[in-house]
Amino acid sequence: MPNILKGIAASSGIAIAKAYRLVEPNLDITKKTIQDTHEEIERFQRSIEQSTAELETLKNNTLEKLGADKAAIFEAHLLVANDPEFLGPVREKIEAEMVNAEFALKEVSSMFVAMFEQMENEYMRERASDIKDVTKRILAHLLGVNLPTPSLIAEEVIVIAEDLTPSDTAQLNKQFVKGFATDIGGRTSHSAIMARSLEIPAVVGTKEISKTVENGTIVIVDGLNGEVYIDPTPEVIEKYKRDQEAYDKQKQEWAKLVNEKTVTADGHHVELAANIGTPADLKGAHANGAEGIGLYRTEFLYMGRDELPSEDEQFEAYKTVLEGMEGKPVVVRTLDIGGDKELPYLNLPKEMNPFLGYRAIRLCLEEQDIFRTQLRALLKASPYGNLKIMFPMIATIDEFRQAKSILEDERLKLVQEGIEVADNIEMGIMVEIPSTAVLADQFAKEVDFFSIGTNDLIQYTMAADRMNERVSYLYQPYNPSILRLIKMVIDAAHGNGKWAGMCGEMAGDEKAILILLGLGLDEFSMSATSILKARSLIKKLSVDDMKQLADKVIQMSSYEEVKQEIERVISL
Ligand code: PEP
Ligand code: MG
Repeated sequence: MPNILKGIAASSGIAIAKAYRLVEPNLDITKKTIQDTHEEIERFQRSIEQSTAELETLKNNTLEKLGADKAAIFEAHLLVANDPEFLGPVREKIEAEMVNAEFALKEVSSMFVAMFEQMENEYMRERASDIKDVTKRILAHLLGVNLPTPSLIAEEVIVIAEDLTPSDTAQLNKQFVKGFATDIGGRTSHSAIMARSLEIPAVVGTKEISKTVENGTIVIVDGLNGEVYIDPTPEVIEKYKRDQEAYDKQKQEWAKLVNEKTVTADGHHVELAANIGTPADLKGAHANGAEGIGLYRTEFLYMGRDELPSEDEQFEAYKTVLEGMEGKPVVVRTLDIGGDKELPYLNLPKEMNPFLGYRAIRLCLEEQDIFRTQLRALLKASPYGNLKIMFPMIATIDEFRQAKSILEDERLKLVQEGIEVADNIEMGIMVEIPSTAVLADQFAKEVDFFSIGTNDLIQYTMAADRMNERVSYLYQPYNPSILRLIKMVIDAAHGNGKWAGMCGEMAGDEKAILILLGLGLDEFSMSATSILKARSLIKKLSVDDMKQLADKVIQMSSYEEVKQEIERVISL
């Protein structure tokens, strides 16, 4: 068994704790003949009692944290787990056929699932999934395997998984989940981005951690170097504890810059803003001295629920963020669903290439009810702060014009209804598709600002899926091709009196910051936890020197050459 696994450093920091496998266990069963059916029925009874106790805890935890709506799922599961019409036939089968409880349960459950799935009534059809879930839980107890349930975690752990979806990540309880490590994923997958905003150290793309680590084994997640240590010796644990302390000290140094502006050594001011996913992230933005919000990923409002958020709900969220930022700029991006951010309740057909498919602005221009509701909520919230609206995944100028005209249409309707809307709301676009970067000079005549989304711009330019660790070597932020595209966008903005920001992860990358300063980027928006480190770096740099560096590297032929040159300049 390898002791150290290499992966991708997804979220800084070091965590040491027991492994908690968030991996579906093997629930395969075999049919066995049983002599003592009385004992077998008792074993079945114990597994029901254990499942019921777990479901009670889950229901209470969910009620406390997420409200009655979400807790109702477990209420329904409890009904199934105690339903004599479901459990009676299992007992009868064990008794009459002298079979093991696992087999009897599976047979009876499959029969009920098939029956419910065929019903006309949607409510009854949905009961089939309750039966499946409860069967899984009881089976896990019968087989003595652990059915992972993140909300039941009540001790410090490191979560180990093949992959975590953004909504899995959002449900991790920071009090107990000290870090995570996954088999797949890249630095710009949304779980990695969320881990950074939650400040949970993480390593992704280890390829095999979920197959290597047992529950309870001590694991070290080194989110600074992208390594996971399995079952370390006491000496190794001591070394990492020292590294952890050194990192905490470093953070305390950076924290002194929380109320300062970001000014270079030669007196240029740039804006350091935070990327947020929910109003709750404002706390982190303030604690880390954000000068604005450069990207509010509104899609998280739509996730982890069963239906679209209402206009009022959205209005409240946008108002909270705008008021919370007290007049500082807040760039709100309209719904960017698709790729690794799914909304199951929209029932969209599965696609071969979801990152290249029906998503973001493409979906919003088609499903205009969804789009218009969001725009109305945004416009209504606009008087409460300094709102800027940004459209994602713009590939053609016509998409921007359509989005703008729908926004204008909703604005006029609100004004006619006598509802207050702020004047002159800036309207910008994400530049994350190469066609838009190349045509930036034309876009710059019509938009108010650009925000460069390098997470996608790099994946589309290099044709390398941002979620696939096998091609993660092609995530090359300092590849001269990417730098040239970025330069085109910034120059086009400045040539037309507009500003250019960046909200992809590259904006918080220490090496990239040198070049971006040299290229004249106006706003850097990043995970809040990267801001102070970036500020401390920028204060030491001079724009003039960085211009020379940028001019030089943009003429180079490879990522490696550029990287070496940046490292040379840093070491001076
Ligand atoms: C990007 O693509 O760079 C970006 C900021 O958006 P997201 O990561 O949400 O796709
Ligand atoms: Mg994007």
